[in-house]
Amino acid sequence: MSMPLVYLDNNATTSVAPEVLEAMLPYLRDAYGNPSSMHDFGGHLSKVVDHARGQLAALIGAHPDEIIFTSCGTESDNTAIASALETQPTKRHLVTTKVEHPALISQMNFLQKKGYEVTFVEVRPDGICEPETVRAAIRPDTAIVSVMWANNETGVINPIAEIAAAVKEKGVLFHTDAVQAVGKEPIDLSVTPVDMLSLSGHKLHAPKGIGALFLRRGTPFRPYIMGGHQENGRRGGTYAVPNIVALGAAAELAGAHMAEERRRVTALRDRLEAGLLERIPAVHRLGNPELRLFNTTAVSFEFIEGEAILLLLSENGVCASSGSACSSGSLEPSHVLRAMGLPFELCHASIRFSFSRYNTDADVDRVLEVTPGIIRELRRISPFTPPELLR
Ligand SMILES: *Cc1c(COP(=O)(O)O)cnc(C)c1O
Repeated sequence: MSMPLVYLDNNATTSVAPEVLEAMLPYLRDAYGNPSSMHDFGGHLSKVVDHARGQLAALIGAHPDEIIFTSCGTESDNTAIASALETQPTKRHLVTTKVEHPALISQMNFLQKKGYEVTFVEVRPDGICEPETVRAAIRPDTAIVSVMWANNETGVINPIAEIAAAVKEKGVLFHTDAVQAVGKEPIDLSVTPVDMLSLSGHKLHAPKGIGALFLRRGTPFRPYIMGGHQENGRRGGTYAVPNIVALGAAAELAGAHMAEERRRVTALRDRLEAGLLERIPAVHRLGNPELRLFNTTAVSFEFIEGEAILLLLSENGVCASSGSACSSGSLEPSHVLRAMGLPFELCHASIRFSFSRYNTDADVDRVLEVTPGIIRELRRISPFTPPELLR
């Protein structure tokens, strides 16, 4: 596989930062011990794990003992929900939204089959989940409410502080899937009343195979992965030292770069968006234009298929995405865009470009150079294109 010319699919996964690779290499090469061992060769690595835990905790305003390392964002999400049900066996109702990641939606569907009741709350046409809608869905038997911090397909950012406050007012557990927000948005859990929060390394320039669950002190908890005494008995499995070191390093880097990256990447993203809207007719920008991640733009091109656009972009060395990576491959339109009430045709014709700190002005130039021709060509062969658009 040759290197893509332009990688604009960072909400699907990111490259491992060079600093992160450097930080983890010693623990792949030589320092391969087990932190739980009695001998010093392994045992001293528990200090390395503690250091990484501190780095990650600092990024989100948590105490180090509130961080549980997991294998991925999906495991963190599944753990949070399962724990809420295990610790409150009489509560059989859950609340989430219609726009969650498949990590959450699949588990909720599974729980429904097991006899639990799930309320999937609506979002606004701009993708925002309103605190009032969430509050209204809560019942006396609600075990947990889970609302994502930022959406992976549109980048839309929910008012999580307000939602969390509304849920806590009712005395119910609150979880948020913050996989897309951590490392991009400032997060301070010392002031935001979230009980549990999921994050994933490979969305912030650490490798795949490492995630974490924030668990607020005092929150009742049952492990999901049962095993040894790792993570204070909260998650079994030998510490993945290289990956944990990587996530710590990536968290520190993200914190150090965040303000500068926001400024620089917002400018790139906005130039791409304005360029597409200016050069191509019948294009729509999706989701709330202000309340969204600075790295994400989702657009929809009338009369053509998102998948066709992706293939031609790929032939031109540009990596983007249509809908979520998990639902691409099937031609089902995105559940997120459908929940926003977008007409069926526009759901099918959506493309997401997502930036990272490694994108440049040249990347934006390349996309603006190739996309108008691709759209024109696809519209020329589409039976749905009105003739006036082809002139
Ligand atoms: C990527 C992603 C996940 C899943 O994380 P993995 O580490 O790939 O399991 C969950 N939620 C959101 C919002 C995501 O973007």
